[in-house]
Amino acid sequence: MTPSNITRFFRNLFRSSATNAARNNERRTIHCDTHGQADETFVCHHVIDGLVRKERVGFFWTAEDPDNPHPDAWCAECEERVKLTDGEWEGEALEHLKPKILCGECYEVAKTFHMGGNPWS
Ligand SMILES: [Zn+2]
Ligand SMILES: [Zn+2]
Repeated sequence: MTPSNITRFFRNLFRSSATNAARNNERRTIHCDTHGQADETFVCHHVIDGLVRKERVGFFWTAEDPDNPHPDAWCAECEERVKLTDGEWEGEALEHLKPKILCGECYEVAKTFHMGGNPWS
């Protein structure tokens, strides 16, 4: 699989798990309790759990989606698992991914935190 194929697969995986109506390049918005109307983004559930527990879990995202300000992202453990399957989101890697929707603002908070910064300072 080429990197762009991986990205497409990953994106479709996220999209199909979230909503059937979503189309590939359509920018969707969601309502966040904290930030109101915001961009819809997708991250693995560890990224969200880590943010809630204030534990850094790493932050990886695809470089193949340059037009998207909030590309789908996942944690260091998911990165390790997907490396073991040669970049395929299948088996263990897929089982543990459990993508979740996050608002674009929350995504920025998660990114800053998991990359070592303090978004609350
Ligand atoms: Zn993860
Ligand atoms: Zn938010």
